[in-house]
Amino acid sequence: MSTFLKNTLTLIDEAADIALRQNQGDVLTKFKTPDRVLEFEIPVHMDDGSERKFSGWRVQHNNALGPYKGGIRFHHLSTKEEVTALATLMTLKTSLAGVPFGGGKGAVRVNPRDLSRAELERLSRGFVKAVFDHIGPEKDVPAPDVGTNAHVMAWMADEFSRLSGFNVPAAFTGKPIEFNGSKGRDASTAYGGFVVLREYLKRVSDLSLLSQDLTCAVQGFGNVGAHIARILNRGGMGSFGSPFRVVALSDSKGAIYNPEGINVEEIMKIQQEKISSGEAHCSLEKAIRIMPEKTREGYAFLTNKDLLELEVDILIPAALENQITFENADGIKAKIILELANGPVSEEADKALARKKIEVIPDILANAGGVVGSYFEWVQNLQRYYWEEEEFFGKLDGFMTSAFRGVARARDGYKVSWRHAAYAQALENVTGVMKLRGWV
Ligand code: NAD
Repeated sequence: MSTFLKNTLTLIDEAADIALRQNQGDVLTKFKTPDRVLEFEIPVHMDDGSERKFSGWRVQHNNALGPYKGGIRFHHLSTKEEVTALATLMTLKTSLAGVPFGGGKGAVRVNPRDLSRAELERLSRGFVKAVFDHIGPEKDVPAPDVGTNAHVMAWMADEFSRLSGFNVPAAFTGKPIEFNGSKGRDASTAYGGFVVLREYLKRVSDLSLLSQDLTCAVQGFGNVGAHIARILNRGGMGSFGSPFRVVALSDSKGAIYNPEGINVEEIMKIQQEKISSGEAHCSLEKAIRIMPEKTREGYAFLTNKDLLELEVDILIPAALENQITFENADGIKAKIILELANGPVSEEADKALARKKIEVIPDILANAGGVVGSYFEWVQNLQRYYWEEEEFFGKLDGFMTSAFRGVARARDGYKVSWRHAAYAQALENVTGVMKLRGWV
């Protein structure tokens, strides 16, 4: 069994010991077993006339609280076990966030950068054909994840609507705003993480342990990483004058560092210009190298390993799972870790960090803003009535503050780590409804 899935199931057992009373074996076994695992090969006509098949999965973990909900990942290392672990985390996350969904996840084993745009579109449509009977607004509502984006969701929503014979916008979330998407959805995971961090800092009695302007390092500069870096530098949505200073960022090619603070918006602008001029991708390092000489001053290049081990107040993993492990946990010097990626800290690393008194705000709470944003998009699609950004972020703030307070209460009550409190609270929520429904 993969370490990621094993860690997830171990944590659920530990949470059950904390939150569930005696003789809960049946409900726990049912909870840990996914409802359905779809496994398929997607045939794709390649531009050179050949045909290739790509392995794909959709795991529907638990729908006690509502339709399955969770992203679709395109990644060359994806496996069925990874998707199962991620689907399980989604069930916990939706319940913690208080949205009426269960948990699911999908993936295709592919490096999307190896495909042309036309091949990527055919693959995306092929995924929908493979799972069509099992998804839909009331059954299972996918969204983007690593390696997929709003455009992939647009192709998928279009394919679903074509196969249905009418427009079904609520079948997918994370769509472009022009095509039934929601204002605010793209920044929702990051903004949710920001709200959780803000609420967490309000509770920390001894702020003297932290620097005056809170230094932050962000691993990963994709959808989540870029947005959180921008939001931290601004101190929120649209406001200016921030207590945070982002000093390091990384992507899969390497890391950049500037102790005076990184101009995140300038980097995003340069990357956008490169992509608009036809380049498939522009790394952080490249963006710095092509900056005007004056603005480039103060920047240094680091490895990804260096970034994780920087002496900062807040480290934000926003790339992939298993980034902080037994091997590098001893080198971590941050004081707080905000897990915006799913599963970035391994079980052994978690214990090592606890010994070093480094607090970890766990993924199922910290990155739940994405699924709350998806819930808002689904609601708007069903009502055919769209909100302004202000309304979106105001409501998101409310959901995330309340999710944080729920976990904080569980932590105070059970006297356990943030991760165990979040898992225990989530498990209690879902298994309670499973019992009410008479499933166990
Ligand atoms: P993305 O594909 O947009 O970005 C991933 C980023 O990570 C890219 O910049 C990539 O270059 C970088 N990366 C990959 N390997 C790296 C490494 N070893 N070191 C440093 N950087 C590396 O993906 P995303 O949507 O931003 O998702 C990131 C994480 O957040 C994932 O774990 C995902 O499951 C989780 N998440 C995403 C959402 C969402 O709304 N997109 C919601 C909840 C959780």
